Amino acid sequence: MMKALFNLAWALLAGPAMAQPGTADVVATKNGNLLIQPIHHASLILTQAALTIYADPVGIDYFKNEKAPDIILITDIHGDHFDIKTIEAVKKDSTLLIVPQVVADKLPESDKTNMWILKNDEQVTKQGIRIKAIPMYNLPESPSAMHTKGRGNGYVLTMGEKNIYISGDTQGIPEMRSLKNIDIAFICMNLPYTMDVQEAADAVLDFEPKIVYPYHYRGKEGFSDIQEFKKMVEAKDKNIEVRLRNWYPEK
Ligand code: ZN
Repeated sequence: MMKALFNLAWALLAGPAMAQPGTADVVATKNGNLLIQPIHHASLILTQAALTIYADPVGIDYFKNEKAPDIILITDIHGDHFDIKTIEAVKKDSTLLIVPQVVADKLPESDKTNMWILKNDEQVTKQGIRIKAIPMYNLPESPSAMHTKGRGNGYVLTMGEKNIYISGDTQGIPEMRSLKNIDIAFICMNLPYTMDVQEAADAVLDFEPKIVYPYHYRGKEGFSDIQEFKKMVEAKDKNIEVRLRNWYPEK
């Protein structure tokens, strides 16, 4: 009872949940600590020493108290990943945008001076971080799919010898299942846009990241059962740590 009251008081004190992104997790790397901060749905922040990376920043309020990004990664054109207003609000002059061609085509000219386009499977090293674009698409492949192959990019970042995979919106495609040496993975799971938790668990068990974060798990019919995802993965592979975090602080 006391605990419930305390939690309630804390919730009231904390004010609108929207302005309270999740606290950061810390993972040690060869170049110092990597801070992992779930923000909202597909948005996240990675920080290592002086370097700050935003992935798919959407929602200006979530970033108000955060350090401006040195790099912004965008995976795809949909509004829950690509929001020009948020990009304009959070970026500084030197911020580098890493994007697929379809996103580049939609950016204002002023953002294109500091932009790098990656096609699926291409990679580039910027500010000491190796960034590789990984395909992301729905199965079966179809020209009318929500996510067609070749349009958007998932990413693998190599930071201080740790490999971090950000899936983007995809199903458990062969390119995901054959990833090697992934230390940290962010895996989408929502219907009908990406995949269900069974498929996500099956794919994760194939490529065995050391740590996996379910993210992007709100769909048309509500939230995917990430507890079930955790159970399925950990029952079959004790070497994978599933980290459940609150990606929907307004919930
Ligand atoms: Zn999405």
